[in-house]
Amino acid sequence: MRILPALASAFLVTSAARASVPAPQPPKLIVVISVDQFGASLFDEYRPQFTAGLARLAGGTVFRNGYQGQAATETCPGHSTIMTGSLPARTGIIANSWYDWTAARADKRIYCAEDERIPASTYKDYTVSPLHLKVPTLGDILKALSPGSRNVAVAGKDRAAVMMSGHVADQRWYWGGKKYVTDLKAAEMPPDVPVINARLAKFIAVAQAPLVPPPYCQAKARPVALSDGETVGAGTLGRAAGDYDAFKESPDWDGATLAMAGALVRDLKLGRGRAPDILSVGLSATDYVGHAYGSEGEEMCLQMFGLDRELGDFFKALDAMKLDYAVVLTADHGVEDLAERIGAPRADPGLAPRAVGAEIAKTLGIQGPVLAGSLGGDVYLDPALSGAERTRAEAEALRLYRAHPQVEAVVTKAELEKIPVPTGSPDRWTLLQRARASFDPQRSGDFVVLLKKGVSLLPKPGKGDVATHGSPWDYDRRVPILFWRAGMEPQTREEAVDTADIMPTIAAMIGIPVDAGSIDGRCLAGISGISCPAP
Ligand SMILES: [Zn+2]
Repeated sequence: MRILPALASAFLVTSAARASVPAPQPPKLIVVISVDQFGASLFDEYRPQFTAGLARLAGGTVFRNGYQGQAATETCPGHSTIMTGSLPARTGIIANSWYDWTAARADKRIYCAEDERIPASTYKDYTVSPLHLKVPTLGDILKALSPGSRNVAVAGKDRAAVMMSGHVADQRWYWGGKKYVTDLKAAEMPPDVPVINARLAKFIAVAQAPLVPPPYCQAKARPVALSDGETVGAGTLGRAAGDYDAFKESPDWDGATLAMAGALVRDLKLGRGRAPDILSVGLSATDYVGHAYGSEGEEMCLQMFGLDRELGDFFKALDAMKLDYAVVLTADHGVEDLAERIGAPRADPGLAPRAVGAEIAKTLGIQGPVLAGSLGGDVYLDPALSGAERTRAEAEALRLYRAHPQVEAVVTKAELEKIPVPTGSPDRWTLLQRARASFDPQRSGDFVVLLKKGVSLLPKPGKGDVATHGSPWDYDRRVPILFWRAGMEPQTREEAVDTADIMPTIAAMIGIPVDAGSIDGRCLAGISGISCPAP
């Protein structure tokens, strides 16, 4: 008998009375797609324009007001909620990176999806791993219950693939800079993967003509001048031969990831076994386009039309394979548009922990860096500070941050430790509760700095990086959550739900029992074909 992986078995329901009633004829393949930076405002705006893949999904059950409820609206925490049913406070993925002063290596900054215990792993050139994910994914739980099921992921970003598939993946692929690569070196090579990689190399080696904007996008073509001399807003995503950066800022990258997804379905015969399989797909181009150009220009418009088309082709390929599949699509976070286009202020660079730390060092006569962390996020006191010095430095840091006109709130570790992880409608959570939802006592900073609504977390625009996300405000938190299966009654739901609700809902769809006490999400009732277990 197979021994259940300890991590997953701890989350299984042991009492038969609490097991869910399996829905009749569950689908054989669950495709879970995360579109990086696809905020709810983008979905709402483009919904009438979609004619292909996203139009199909919009004809299923649409939760317009999904939330990545936590304050830390970054890629890694966001992806960690989708397939675990849990908030970052439980998944442990509190940010894209954090500081671990106890780490054995000299650089204490830790990437969310690395194993820093491996000597070759550095913050910049890390060894990809699910080590930091503290909970199992639905795929992990499914594999423990039904070893014949496959748990497969492919994404543009490694952290998307890792956080959605988890600890017991059969295949996991992500873009390694020039081709799709895997951290699962022992897994068998699917025959189509090298074929796709070779085709991509040839494709990227050839210059691509600018995309032809449809009238809806042409109407958005208004150039916006930035302080660094660049102009964005009216781009058409063409690229020079061999320009790998521009490839990632185009729908072609999503097309490539979806081609990989289709190849994995074919090669591994996903959806054809007795037990259901899970395929997680992370589409990252929307995030690259959004960072490079913002979310309201012609460039994002072309990305939206391209994404719709690529998804449509992917679903047609699955249809042609005659598979009984269901699709869930959401996002890891939204975004705030380009500050210069919407007239929003940019963050004062003086708010960076390093800058504030230098000021404190001068005032208090301390040697050393004093503060580490990110602007508008977790801030850490340097561990070299002694007891009394540390107390004075923290008091001074809190005073300086709280006095700054761009700061909405500074929340300390002590305050966060006192309150419970929030439950209920995420649209009603206070700022403190949002911060609690992405707080982990081992990994979070000594305090969290939350900037005022509208302040761009990016002090200065640069090439490829003009707009961003990461705030506790709804433009970064609100994301669509779409459920689709052939024959599903279309419905659009207005209530606020959390991306942590996705996992228990899929679990109910395929009849997998999940202990409600071990996750933060709840099964979303009222979706046709899905029977939620009795509470
Ligand atoms: Zn992201």
